[in-house]
Amino acid sequence: MCADKSHDKKPNFILSLLGNKCARCRRGSIYSSTNPYDLKHCMDMPEECPVCGQKVEVEVGFYYGTGYVSYALSIAICVASLIAWWLFIGFSIYDNRIFWWLGFNGLLLLILQPLIMRLSRTVWMAFFVYYDENWRQRPQVTGREHSSHLKNA
Ligand SMILES: [Zn+2]
Repeated sequence: MCADKSHDKKPNFILSLLGNKCARCRRGSIYSSTNPYDLKHCMDMPEECPVCGQKVEVEVGFYYGTGYVSYALSIAICVASLIAWWLFIGFSIYDNRIFWWLGFNGLLLLILQPLIMRLSRTVWMAFFVYYDENWRQRPQVTGREHSSHLKNA
């Protein structure tokens, strides 16, 4: 058990989010396909995490709330692209640059959509399922059980 821990480094939270990893072990992928632009299968998820066995769909309809995350991510991307456009190209009332930005931003959001959708689910899962450093020893727990367990601790 101790020998296990010594070489078990906790994976970085942000990198595991960006890599669409399971929130409990931060190692297993929560998507069956690694390619987000394989549009037919990009949202396919295994039943449980291939590494720690965490249920990927924690409860029925678990991922309905991802709309909020995806909305927030989209707004953040719009703001970032607006600021970048403002700094590098600029806006003026004498030409159509603002409309070019609108078109560019729409296209950017469309192209990034599969990535945003996948990331939203990963972020949503991380809201409810926390990293468990003893994921090798303990059986999987659902998000709700896990948070009540933390409150009692
Ligand atoms: Zn896992």
